[in-house]
Amino acid sequence: MSDLTKIVLSEQDIPTHWYNLNADLPAAGVEVPPPLHPATLQPVGPEDLAPLFPMALIEQEVSTERYIEIPDEVRDIYRLWRPSPLYRARRWEKALDTPAKIYYKYEGVSPAGSHKPNTAVAQAYYNKEAGVKRITTETGAGQWGSALALAAQFFGIECKVYMVRISYDQKPYRRVMIQTWGASVVASPSNETNAGRQILAKHPDSSGSLGIAISEAVEEAATREDTKYSLGSVLNHVLLHQTVIGQEVIKQLEVAGADWPDIGIGCVGGGSNFGGFAFPFLRENIVNGKKMRLIAVEPAATPSITRGVYAYDYGDTAALTPIIKMHTLGHDFMPAPIHAGGLRYHGMAAQISAAAQAGLIEARNVQQRAIFDAALSFTRAEGILPAPEAAHAVQATMQEALACRESGESKTIVFNMSGHGHFDLSAYDAYLRGDLVDYEYPEEAIRESLTHLPKVD
Ligand SMILES: *Cc1c(COP(=O)(O)O)cnc(C)c1O
Repeated sequence: MSDLTKIVLSEQDIPTHWYNLNADLPAAGVEVPPPLHPATLQPVGPEDLAPLFPMALIEQEVSTERYIEIPDEVRDIYRLWRPSPLYRARRWEKALDTPAKIYYKYEGVSPAGSHKPNTAVAQAYYNKEAGVKRITTETGAGQWGSALALAAQFFGIECKVYMVRISYDQKPYRRVMIQTWGASVVASPSNETNAGRQILAKHPDSSGSLGIAISEAVEEAATREDTKYSLGSVLNHVLLHQTVIGQEVIKQLEVAGADWPDIGIGCVGGGSNFGGFAFPFLRENIVNGKKMRLIAVEPAATPSITRGVYAYDYGDTAALTPIIKMHTLGHDFMPAPIHAGGLRYHGMAAQISAAAQAGLIEARNVQQRAIFDAALSFTRAEGILPAPEAAHAVQATMQEALACRESGESKTIVFNMSGHGHFDLSAYDAYLRGDLVDYEYPEEAIRESLTHLPKVD
């Protein structure tokens, strides 16, 4: 059955376990350094994290168990959109005139339109189990906020979202979606927290950043007994929950009769969709001698892996979160206003950073006009309209497919389409009108931000 275009599995094929890369990294000689307490600089213990997260998630964060069972209640909700389809991009292959075989996993079929509900549902479940009544979080462009609002609604938990000011003002539809699913939204920086008030005192017109919004959400959770905090990317347990993606892809490629892929590609903001897609394949590289290239694609405007340093840094601007060893541009980095809002983060997941540092995965960065060039090529052939974030993976796939045209090789390439772009049409509009500009992050600004890293020996 090698002529399938859309490979759809049945509900019974939803993975029963999440895959934990921490179990296999030691076999590759890679160690993920522990997160440190922001004040003492000592490794954080469960008791340090307990004000923010339910214990089940803290245990997953540090677990080295290879497979962690997905609770039935979570799998039941996954059934609303999982298994998500894998497509063979036949029409795009033809348009690109490439001998490469291109497959893409489509996570835009979830109710929120991205991969984010895969972890939102799991996190809401564990909070509910722990008796938590309220959750706070931050959101950039609104994708994470809408995913958590949905999941919190499913489990009857109150949800409050700090939304980065510029998106709150310029991209109202995700905010409306968050409110429609029953959560409340405030623009960040806000007057509701010390972190927000401090920023506003210095910069009354601040357009906000993910780092600031995280500070506000964490501060509220840490100072209220009835409230916990939820993060949509970066942390081990978030990447863990996303591994349903890669596990399904492996099964779907088998059903399609495809060769083991030569190349796997995903975009990276904090690293969760890429990790979830790539880690089950990376395990095959580490344990079973497979030699698949895994490529993480980031914006030229937030080049944390490709131009940042691998160092301990805070996860947020106000320096409230644990310090994580990661590729970072500095926690007070202010990203340029590119349209891929979900990729505008200064740091990168610890597991991805460690894997990149060890050469287990590759990284590259790309300008936003090039990603929209690729998105248009893709959508005119395949129909699906990529989120600007996902278009980074589309662009790298196009480059690899065109390289195959040059070399005449018929490589198998698979990429993760992390979400659709139906709420990003203003970005497409700017592109089509010719108003989109490229941003190269200036070297001096990166160096300046990096002088504010915490001093860890
Ligand atoms: C949030 C988001 C991303 C970036 O986050 P990761 O944690 O790096 O996956 C990418 N694509 C879409 C569609 C998103 O919503």
